Amino acid sequence: LSATELAAVRADFPLLGRTVRGGRDLVYLDSAATSQKPNVVLEAEVEFYEQRNAAVHRGAHQLAEEATEAFEQARAAVAAFVGADPGEIVWTSGATAAINLVAYSLANATAGRGGAAAERFRLAPGDEIVVTEAEHHANLVPWQELCARTGAVLRWFGVDDEGRIDLSDLGSVITARTRVVAFGHVSNVTGAIAPVAEIVAAARQVGALTVLDACQSVPHLPVDLHATGVDFAAFSAHKMVGPTGVGALYGRRELLEAMPPVTTGGSMVEVVTMEATTYAPPPQRFEAGTQMVAQAVGMGVAAQWLEELGMDAVAAHEQHLATELVRISEIPGVRIVGPADAHDRIAVVSFVVDGVHAHDVGQVLDDRGIAVRVGHHCAQPLHRRFGVAATARASASVYTTTEEIAAFREALAGVRAFFGVD
Ligand code: PMP
Repeated sequence: LSATELAAVRADFPLLGRTVRGGRDLVYLDSAATSQKPNVVLEAEVEFYEQRNAAVHRGAHQLAEEATEAFEQARAAVAAFVGADPGEIVWTSGATAAINLVAYSLANATAGRGGAAAERFRLAPGDEIVVTEAEHHANLVPWQELCARTGAVLRWFGVDDEGRIDLSDLGSVITARTRVVAFGHVSNVTGAIAPVAEIVAAARQVGALTVLDACQSVPHLPVDLHATGVDFAAFSAHKMVGPTGVGALYGRRELLEAMPPVTTGGSMVEVVTMEATTYAPPPQRFEAGTQMVAQAVGMGVAAQWLEELGMDAVAAHEQHLATELVRISEIPGVRIVGPADAHDRIAVVSFVVDGVHAHDVGQVLDDRGIAVRVGHHCAQPLHRRFGVAATARASASVYTTTEEIAAFREALAGVRAFFGVD
């Protein structure tokens, strides 16, 4: 992005204009937790409520028709943004719900639901589900639960000292018993980009389903889900300049068609009698109850906004920011947890400051108006792997500037002296 383009982008985000801590300019470096939202997204939600609000897919009136059209257009926009077909996008409340949907659908299939079509989703005791040590809890705990329900066994890839997924024993982790391989596209802690093609190829060879946690890739890199060949993917609107409360599950059409539903009730059915119910085809089969229509519309606009900016330009800008961020390792006593160079990573950098607790680091930065996240970032096993209980994390987005990162580096350089550590 040119300086003019970046200035225009920033002017579109009202929140970036506010001050914090007694008049300091906000330096928002917590976009991996949630991104800020441009006016077009905020306005799309207001416009929906002011002009089109109605329940979708049922009313026989004009508003219902318009609401349905906006809802389905948003689905098409999100689908186009990630290289999928609209019928392959299921609205969920976010990535967590999307991953749980897959896991619980497999549990239901294993319990005999879904008839003959769901045969391929049934797990037997001793079957294996593979994850990685770098997963966000949202892509770990649902699989532990699925194992507990089905007798399947959880296995995982470790990570190397830079947090990259270690595929050196690929053949012994993914085996003939592997049924599901679930992994993050980009780590929300280390920023490292996973070797998707290699993992998908290995999973396919043994007929395992692949589930991609695309939460941290979709907002920052061009993502073409059809090209990756994954079976499922999950992502959240709120990390990609969209609203909270909405996200999507991508599923290959033929798989969604064969999967049993998880949440049941209104809007996901075909024929209901007192004795039995037949279910609607996907995606509606997985969208029980009144949907989050305004948020979905906002997510569609967010996807279009990013698309118009161009994900290649966004990725190039953020690659530059990543280069600037990893320079914190030049500060004495600062250690990055994750890839030290800016190659194959996004602009998310977690770090420890020797002798200073992550929470204290966060507080000193906050006093200067710099917002970072501290803690385990919902990835306790990864932190355990690195022998630390907590890290501080700075994460950028499309609207982040080089100057903000320089201000962060400067403030960080003063942290150890502030606490009298050297
Ligand atoms: N996976 C990753 C890699 C994430 O960063 C997050 C959000 N921190 C999630 C899953 C969960 O997303 P959500 O909280 O929006 O459901």
